[in-house]
Amino acid sequence: MELCFATNNAHKLEEVKSLLQGQVQIVSLQDIGCAEELAETTGTIIGNSRQKAEYVFENYNVPCFADDSGLEVEALTNAPGVDSAHYAGLQRSHDDNISLLLKNMEGVTDRKAQFVTVITLLASGVDQRFVGTIKGTIIHKKMGTCGFGYDPIFRPDGFDNTLAQMTLEEKNKISHRAKATEQLIEFLRSRAFKL
Ligand code: IMP
Repeated sequence: MELCFATNNAHKLEEVKSLLQGQVQIVSLQDIGCAEELAETTGTIIGNSRQKAEYVFENYNVPCFADDSGLEVEALTNAPGVDSAHYAGLQRSHDDNISLLLKNMEGVTDRKAQFVTVITLLASGVDQRFVGTIKGTIIHKKMGTCGFGYDPIFRPDGFDNTLAQMTLEEKNKISHRAKATEQLIEFLRSRAFKL
């Protein structure tokens, strides 16, 4: 079975390929001849994940899935959410995003937050959504240098370290993305990897 992962992130593609080794042939947008930028304009994480999967399924007629993620901070009414990547501007700088978030949280004592990943899977007769979350706390200054994005200021519940103080292997056991991907794999397994 061939399944397209509708992402332009080569790192994510490799990660999912290795998780599904041998069972499903994961193909890239490039492999199916899709060179256009996938729009992410719905204003929600769920909507953007669906928008990307739908675009590929409808225009290329291949089974496919797409993901979208973000950080939701309770005291900021779930911002930055769908705007996580460009919270501080279109330069999409992780450092600028963190600085703005910490500034917006000055004096805020409720520092609860969660990362969310939504995966939408579309194939003939199949329309599934998988949601992975990890809950934690936004700390007051950056700790750790691993990972990316908001990892240095996010400390998962039950841990003493931020995600940026964990190895990739440790993060991958608990992350929102890992949980959503695991659900996708479970679903594919339940169908004997046939779509
Ligand atoms: P994407 O949809 O997976 O590309 O994620 C959008 C944005 O959410 C990223 O650019 C980051 O700012 C943030 N984000 C998503 N996942 C993570 C994570 O695992 N750690 C830190 N930041 C993340």
